[in-house]
Amino acid sequence: MNMQRRELLKGAGAAATLGTLGLAGCAMNTMGAPDKARVLVVGGGYGGATAAKYVRLLSDYKIDVVLVEPGDAFVSCPISNLVLGGSKLMADITTPYSGLSQAHGVRIVKDMVASIDATRHVAVLASGANIRYDKLVLAPGIELMWDNIAGLKDANAQGRILQAWKAGAETAALRRQLEAMPDGGLYAITIPEAPYRCPPGPYERACQVASYFKAAKPKSKVLILDANPDVTSKGPLFKKVWAEAYKGMVEYRGQHKATAVDVKTNSVKFEVQEDVKADVLNVLPSMRAGAIAVQSGLANSNARWCNVNYLNFESTAAKDIHVIGDSIQIAPAMPKSGHMANSHGKVVAAAIVAELSGWEINPAPMLTNTCYSFVDAKNVIHVASVHEYVAAEKTFKTVAGSGGVSAAPNEQEGGYAWNWARTIWADTLA
Ligand SMILES: Cc1cc2nc3c(=O)[nH]c(=O)nc-3n(C[C@H](O)[C@H](O)[C@H](O)COP(=O)(O)OP(=O)(O)OC[C@H]3O[C@@H](n4cnc5c(N)ncnc54)[C@H](O)[C@@H]3O)c2cc1C
Repeated sequence: MNMQRRELLKGAGAAATLGTLGLAGCAMNTMGAPDKARVLVVGGGYGGATAAKYVRLLSDYKIDVVLVEPGDAFVSCPISNLVLGGSKLMADITTPYSGLSQAHGVRIVKDMVASIDATRHVAVLASGANIRYDKLVLAPGIELMWDNIAGLKDANAQGRILQAWKAGAETAALRRQLEAMPDGGLYAITIPEAPYRCPPGPYERACQVASYFKAAKPKSKVLILDANPDVTSKGPLFKKVWAEAYKGMVEYRGQHKATAVDVKTNSVKFEVQEDVKADVLNVLPSMRAGAIAVQSGLANSNARWCNVNYLNFESTAAKDIHVIGDSIQIAPAMPKSGHMANSHGKVVAAAIVAELSGWEINPAPMLTNTCYSFVDAKNVIHVASVHEYVAAEKTFKTVAGSGGVSAAPNEQEGGYAWNWARTIWADTLA
């Protein structure tokens, strides 16, 4: 155990003791800013890492921020499809967490939160340590709903049928499966019904795999089996790319809801249609809020997503727990994206700093989103939107006339997409 962690856990234990004595609440100093308030952030992805940094920045470094994250480094899902396409490496999508600790004084604990006692304001880590909090930001991303597709969990455990829907070791493993596939083989991806993480992500992935096949295995095919009736994002643009750049290589079939997989035959079964056998199967099950949110009773929308008060992202099920990122029940037209999670992170940080400081919170927060999709190694299409809080309806709605979508794939947007990635990684982590 390193020195920083030992001290943190010592402090956390002391704080928990204070908590039981009823002294855990934060006192105000003469500036009206909180003194010794602690924000605990669960999950160091796009939402959590941003919230951690911005609570420190917006509180003028007065609020203590502890970030619990099991990963050694931040591995980005955005751009991870390019690792499958072969134009980028895992190192290109990996950023250390040291920026958050060194530049911003966020205390990082490499662990998992195992349970949350919302009444006592204490989180229990997998290692057994307790951490007291005044405010908790819960940003655990998604959990894959294995049970919705029979046999999938085992197939994943055997390393046979992968998802790679959380970037990391599986991304590299799926790339190896594609490399090992013979020319003339079939890659099939199944897509669950919306909402799921990153609406255009599976279609971008199909383009990336096709781009690799076109260069290295031109007799191979890509089959997209979508539970939705039609392409859920940038549909006309993706379809044009498949029909033109990947003519005869990519096939799209809507309304294909996967129900089971069979590792012996490497095939997938559907509610209605015939089974499909493929050389590389990439089966994406339905998704819900990260496991810790579900286990803590915070996924109170259909036992799947977490309802929040959109003004400050506070859970409707527990006071002082604010849920952000992919785990939340979305407002109309709000995508489950990294850019959106980063936007949530800033709104929640501002609201928490205001609440802990006794200030009025911003009554009209705004969110933005841009989602770039690489259709090959260089050409990109985007969709963008701006979302405003509408007080009368207590929700976010897109601002009329804001945002838009590309006219066609182009290299200039390829440059913009790279700048977006570098900028958001710096904004989230540096
Ligand atoms: C292939 C692909 C491509 C994508 N492309 C784009 C794109 O181009 N643009 C875009 O904006 N979005 C994109 N996305 C979507 C984006 O990755 C997600 O929307 C974003 O990661 C959500 O952020 P989050 O903070 O909610 O979750 P995450 O970024 O997944 O972070 C969750 C973190 O919580 C941690 N965690 C989970 N449980 C616990 C626990 N109990 N204790 C402690 N830590 C825990 C996890 O280790 C993880 O680090 C893409 C996604 C995929 C899969």
